[in-house]
Amino acid sequence: MKKHKILVTGGTGYIGSHTSVELIQAGYELVIIDNLSNSSEKVLSGIESITGTKPEFIQLDMRDEALMKQVFESHPDISACIHFAALKAVGESHEKPLEYYDNNLKSLLNLLKFFPEHHPVKIVFSSSCTVYGNPDELPVSEQSPIKPAMSPYGNTKRIAEEILQDYVSSTKAACIALRYFNPIGAHPSGIIGELPQGVPNNLMPFITQTALGVRETLQIFGKDYDTPDGTCVRDYIDVLDLAKAHVIALERILNKNQETNYEFFNLGTGKGVSVLEMVNHFQDVTAQKLNYKFAPRRAGDVPSVYADTTKANQILGWKAEKSIAETIANAWKWEMNYRKQENHEK
Ligand code: NAD
Ligand code: UDP
Repeated sequence: MKKHKILVTGGTGYIGSHTSVELIQAGYELVIIDNLSNSSEKVLSGIESITGTKPEFIQLDMRDEALMKQVFESHPDISACIHFAALKAVGESHEKPLEYYDNNLKSLLNLLKFFPEHHPVKIVFSSSCTVYGNPDELPVSEQSPIKPAMSPYGNTKRIAEEILQDYVSSTKAACIALRYFNPIGAHPSGIIGELPQGVPNNLMPFITQTALGVRETLQIFGKDYDTPDGTCVRDYIDVLDLAKAHVIALERILNKNQETNYEFFNLGTGKGVSVLEMVNHFQDVTAQKLNYKFAPRRAGDVPSVYADTTKANQILGWKAEKSIAETIANAWKWEMNYRKQENHEK
């Protein structure tokens, strides 16, 4: 059978690179596009050492109409797209809202605009649990209402989903939006993982960097939330489990198995884990002592959010499989490998 050619936008990024590995291993041919604003071309060698295949890579900014047009003209055989490319730092989006709207929405519009006319758009879209805002009920199911976003970043996801829904309803396009909860972890090989630029915003890379002495102390933001131990609760989903869900969603679209042309699924574990529990898990799994202190609440944090994953379990036949211990061990292995390599290069 001829392999489908899949366009992966943001494919050198954290979730994009892990999904690229899964796609190659499932037999797909890839064209990755990325402007490397938050990733490195070195990731491609990582993908190659895991899979034995170096995917085609085009460095470009998706906001550039001429370059996006060219991608499709030079690759008329692209069957579908997984659209990861976006700016994603919640805090930064408050400082630079226009940059977030411009980057995240123009990239999506150009993708839809230049997708070849001879076959309808097929797209798997990276959405987020941020579309549920501060939810009234837990766990959060797909029936939970879409709430006002807590940040310009979150708003770009909500608007992007609306754009996609409008587009799909007036064309023969097909879309699956995957609403991720908190992706963490790394490929078990330790060859690719999460590589935030500068000081990490997210909990997991802050923990691994603190344990290695790259950061002095982890600050736990808030200890007086209305949660069992007073710290915030999140649903931490392994990046490889997440990557596998993309392959399933893609196949569902390609095989025309969708119930409607616009579908959306929560991707999480269904389990809430507090910040303190995460710190304790990390210390248990790695036998590392972590320097941490309590700090004031971080603006915009919701106390507790975790997924009802029944819809993805039943309809996609997907379920998060990795234990939190395995996920933490992989994140730790990746961080240690990366720092060792970095020291060699100095
Ligand atoms: P990432 O920053 O590692 O990857 C995104 C990639 O997109 C980067 O490589 C970046 O260089 C690229 N990019 C950004 N703007 C671009 C543009 N205009 N043109 C071309 N490339 C561009 O982020 P990630 O964690 O892998 O996230 C992937 C997707 O998942 C994003 O859409 C993000 O909003 C979404 N998401 C992430 C999380 C999370 O916590 N990581 C949670 C929910 C949703
Ligand atoms: N957090 C923390 N210290 C940090 C980073 C994060 O206490 O240095 C907390 C944060 O307040 C939230 C949880 O960890 O309750 C997850 O935060 P993250 O930024 O990873 O994901 P978010 O849920 O905000 O997307």
